Amino acid sequence: MAKTISVIVPCFNEQEVLPIFYKEITKVAADMAGYDFEFIFVDDGSKDETLNECKKLAESDDRVKYISFSRNFGKEAAMYAGLEKSTGDMVVIMDVDLQDPPALLPQMVYAIETEGYDSVATRRVTRKGEPVIRSFFARMFYKIINKISKTEIVDGARDYRLMSRQFVNSLLELSERNRFSKGLFGWVGYKTKWLEYENVERAAGQTKWSFWKLFLYSIEGIMAFSTAPLAISAVVGFIMCAVAAVAIIFIVFRTLMFGDPVSGWPSMVCIILFIGGIQLFCLGIVGEYLAKTYTEIKNRPIYICRETNTDKEKTK
Ligand code: UDP
Ligand code: MG
Repeated sequence: MAKTISVIVPCFNEQEVLPIFYKEITKVAADMAGYDFEFIFVDDGSKDETLNECKKLAESDDRVKYISFSRNFGKEAAMYAGLEKSTGDMVVIMDVDLQDPPALLPQMVYAIETEGYDSVATRRVTRKGEPVIRSFFARMFYKIINKISKTEIVDGARDYRLMSRQFVNSLLELSERNRFSKGLFGWVGYKTKWLEYENVERAAGQTKWSFWKLFLYSIEGIMAFSTAPLAISAVVGFIMCAVAAVAIIFIVFRTLMFGDPVSGWPSMVCIILFIGGIQLFCLGIVGEYLAKTYTEIKNRPIYICRETNTDKEKTK
C-alpha cells in the first residue's frame, strides 16, 4: 500500500500566498508517484480570507484538510494541532510563504525511506534579506542558549522538517504549554539528517514576527530548555555576599585604626540601590519560572478548534 505523507501548514493571515503555495506543493506531490498526500492547513485565527481559501481548496481536492482556531494561538500551537490531526506515515511541517522550499521534499523522503533516518531537518546557512539587527540578535540567542542548555538547538534551524510516525508520536507526548519546537525536536532525539539551503524570501504577504514577538519567543526558549538563569542569580548573590564580607572586614579594621569620620553616604546610597536592583532582578527571574509553572499547571488546552473537516474524515 502506498505510504501517506501529511503536510502541515500553519497559516496566519495568508490569503495572498495560500493559493501559490497550494500550486507548488501539488506540483511536487504529483512528481512523487507512489506516495499519497494529505495537506493540513491550520488557520491560526486569521482575520482575512485564509479560512475561506482553505475551504475552497478542500472542496476541489479531498486531500485538503483544515483546522481553524478560535483565535490566534501562535505557530507553535498550530504545529501541535497539525501533528495531532495528522494520519500519515511521514509528516512534514512547512511554512506557507514558500520560505521552506517544497522542492526539497523528495530528497527528505529518500533520507527517511532509504538512508534510515527518523527525521530530516533543514537549516538556512544565510540570513540574506533579513534586517541586520535581527540576524545579530538571532546569532546571539543561539550562542547563549547552546551554552546554557543541554539540548542542542541548531543556529538557523527551521521548523521545516520531515518526521517518521514514531518521531511524531514521541513529539506529541511532550504536551507542554510553553512550546519551543526547535528545542523539542532536539529533545526527543532519534537520528536526524540536516539539509542546508540558502535563505529564500517570502513569496507574498508579510512576516508575522515583530522583533518584540521574537524576543519574547527567545526568552520562552531559554526558559523551556534551561534553568541556568536561576543558577546564575544564585551565583550573583553568592559573589555579592563574598564582596560584602571582604568590605566589612576592611571597614572594621579601618575604623579601629583611623577612627570613624562620618562620610561616604552618597556611595552608601549607590550600593543600597545596586543591591536592591540585583535582588529584584533575581526575584524577577524566579518569578518568571514560577509563572511558567503556573501556566503549565492550569493545564489549559494548547489550542481551541472552531471549525475543521478532519473529524468528518474519521467518521466516514
Ligand atoms: N504563523 C502562524 N501563527 C502566527 C505567526 C505565524 O501560524 O501567529 C505561520 C505563518 O502563517 C507562516 C509561518 O508561521 O506560515 C511562518 O511565519 P512568517 O513567515 O511570518 O515568519 P518568518 O518566516 O518571517 O520567520
Ligand atoms: Mg516566513
